[in-house]
This record gives sequence, structure tokens and C-alpha cells, in this order.
Amino acid sequence: MTTIHPAKITKVLPESIAAEIGFDAGDAIVTINGTRPRDLIDYQFLCADEVLELEVLDATGKTHHIEIEKDYDDDLGLEFETALFDGLIQCNNRCPFCFIDQQPPGKRSSLYFKDDDYRLSFLYGSYLTLTNLPEKEWQRIEQMRLSPLYVSVHATEPDVRIRLLKNNRAGQLLQQLKWFQERRLQIHAQVVVCPGINDGKHLEQTLRDLTSFHTGEIPAVASIAVVPVGLTRFRPQEDELTPVTQQKAQEVISQVKLLSQEFRQKFGSSVAWLADEWFLIAGEELPSEAEYEEYPQIDNGVGSIRLFVKQFTHAAQKLLPPKVSPHRKLTWVVGNAVEKAFQPILKQLNAVEGLEVNMRALYSDYWGQNISVTGLITGHDLLFHLKGQDLGEGILLPNVMLKHGELIFLDDMTVEEVAHQLNTEIFPVAGVEDLINTCINS
Ligand code: SF4
Repeated sequence: MTTIHPAKITKVLPESIAAEIGFDAGDAIVTINGTRPRDLIDYQFLCADEVLELEVLDATGKTHHIEIEKDYDDDLGLEFETALFDGLIQCNNRCPFCFIDQQPPGKRSSLYFKDDDYRLSFLYGSYLTLTNLPEKEWQRIEQMRLSPLYVSVHATEPDVRIRLLKNNRAGQLLQQLKWFQERRLQIHAQVVVCPGINDGKHLEQTLRDLTSFHTGEIPAVASIAVVPVGLTRFRPQEDELTPVTQQKAQEVISQVKLLSQEFRQKFGSSVAWLADEWFLIAGEELPSEAEYEEYPQIDNGVGSIRLFVKQFTHAAQKLLPPKVSPHRKLTWVVGNAVEKAFQPILKQLNAVEGLEVNMRALYSDYWGQNISVTGLITGHDLLFHLKGQDLGEGILLPNVMLKHGELIFLDDMTVEEVAHQLNTEIFPVAGVEDLINTCINS
């Protein structure tokens, strides 16, 4: 039996109901209308009411009972320390390509924590495998209609999926998809391609099996992302994995493109998309913007380069002035995988009189990669490539290099530490408007 902890508040939004009542950061909600919320999903569900009776613990440990009358859909305006008040559901697989196992030893213990939690999948779109759910959690997914979920499929043939996840429970995927279909619930799928294990005919079988669930008004499989396996220099020696070569990337691109064409004719949608990384490894042009449809797998690196360039061009028309004064010189750090694709952006920034932006497209020495996507560049890599160089007024740092909501890189270095060692300022930028505004506002 897991313990449900009181939901600790970290932020009270100004002018919210909670601020009016006098909630403070550090308070914790114990019950809402007599029920202890397990997680943010319960919290949101229980708060969708007109009268709330809350049991609250303040920071000194004193209990308060508070009654709130509000409109049914009014939000209280609270943020919590965590989304899960009863702890994470842990992963019970042993995938050889697991990124957590491909990190160097000796870091903070939370970096080695493997979650496989349907609640994080529903709330934030993280991927889960469905191998660790007891019956009561399946019932909760059904009753609360927690859809869509994001599922790491990798392969639909039971023996291939069991081999990849190293878990005998991994062979039930097709029955589980049927379960979603019968309840009109949806998933987005991802397939991490490991050459020699789930590529070739296995990949074709997987995509055909998955698209057989892309039928009806609410297709159980809404979309599929095909992603290349990512390997680092810290992986175990004898892990049966082979890196994706340029030739393998070209082969997978042709195979999936052909299948997507067939799916488009059959379903009116490609259903399966290749992650941008395939095209970068293969040295091929990215697909056109229209091919990504509604960008259903954008957070999985499918179409994110095309979308970023498009959003930039759009925002630049509105926000980019002809001239800045005084003169500004900045360094924009990105992964070397996007060096070519981002040239149009660089050109537009440098067309502004008085603005000089130098792109530094880096590979990751930390992970031991020759081609790196921006999200994998670490604090170590910045120091490795940029120490002692003229960086102008500072570094424009895409915030995809940082852990969600924190100023910490994947290797646990802080932005402050790196800025100090490089003797420069670091400006984290979130998206195109932030990038433009940071460039033009001195
Ligand atoms: S399911 Fe995810 S977290 Fe678990 S071993 Fe596989 S890759 Fe790692």
C-alpha cells in the first residue's frame, strides 16, 4: 500500500482564489471534500466542484479546515512540489538502450531514477510501456478517461518487444491496444529503432500492426513517432546495440516514407512520422512543413526544426527591428545537428543593423557523440568548446538544454557555474519570441 503525502504547495498565483484566502507556499493540502488526492489528476478532479472543504497543514504543522465556494471550473491558483503525492510508479524493464543507464556513474541519485508512470504520461506526455500496471490502475485509466497516453511500443511482435524491454510482460501490447480501442481511449506511440533488433521487416510489421488501430472516429493509435536509438560513450560494452549509421538512416527513411505514403492513401494521414534526427544523420533534406500535418509528435523531435524555423520567420516579421543600438554581439549555442537547418534564422538575425549573432554548433564531448541535437548539449560541452573564447555580451542558451523548469544542465552543472567559468552571461531562451527579444533588448 503506497502512502499518500499531503500535497505541498510551492506557489500561490497572485490574484487567485488561493491568494485571496491567504494560502502560503509551504502549506500542504491533506484532503479535499474528505478525500486525499493521490496526484494532480485527483486534485483537478476533486476541485471541479462548487463547494470545497479543505484540510490544510501549514508550514508549522498546524491543521486548518477551510471552506471555499466557487464556480465549478474555477482554478484555485496553486502549484505543487510534485504532480504525484504518493510517489512515482517505477519502471520494471531493462531496455539495453535506456538513457538512464547510459549516464556516467557518481551523479545525484535522482538522475538514475527510472519512472514508468501513466500519470506523468497523461499530464506531461512522457512515454510509458504499460508493463507495470495492476488492474486497479487500468480501471482508473478507464474511469477517469486518462487519454491520450504516450506509449513506448518499439515492436509489436511479442518476442521482439520482450527482447527489447527485457520483460516477459512486454508481449501483451496488441491486447492492450485492443483494450484502448474498445474503450475509445487513445495513445500516441513511439518506436525507438535499434538496428539489427527491431528494424527491417520488424519495423514494417510494427507500423502495420499499429496503423490497424488507426481506424474509426477516435483511432486508438493516433500517431506514431519513429526515433533512432541514441547511444552514449557510457553504455555497457556488451549491450547488443549497434549505432545508427548514415546508411541505416537512409534505409529507414526510404522504408518509412513508402509506408507513410500508403497510410496517407488509406487513412488520409501519414500516421507514422520520422524524427528529425534521421534526416540529420542521413544528411538528407527535412520533409516539407505540410507533411507534418498537425505536428502530433512535436515533443518527440518530429518536425520541431521545421516548426521552429517557421515560427521564427513569422515572429521576426512582427518583432525584429531594422536596427539595434547600441551594437550587440552574442553567441548562440546549438547542437551541431541543426547547424545547417538554422542558417536562415542566423541570416535574419544578422541582417539587423548593429546586431551580431555568432552561432556555435557543438557536438557533445560529454556523451561522446559526433552529431548532437541541441537538447543533449551539457554544461561540460559548453566549457569544453567555448572556454577562453570571445563570446560577446553573452550566450543565448536554448532552454531545451536545461532540465524542465530548472537552471541545471543534463550533466548536473548549473547555468550559474558554467557562466562563472566562461566568465560571461548566459541568457536561457524559451522559443522564438524569447530568442528575438533577448537579441534586441539590451
Ligand atoms: S522503459 Fe524507459 S526507463 Fe525503463 S528501462 Fe526502458 S528506457 Fe529505461
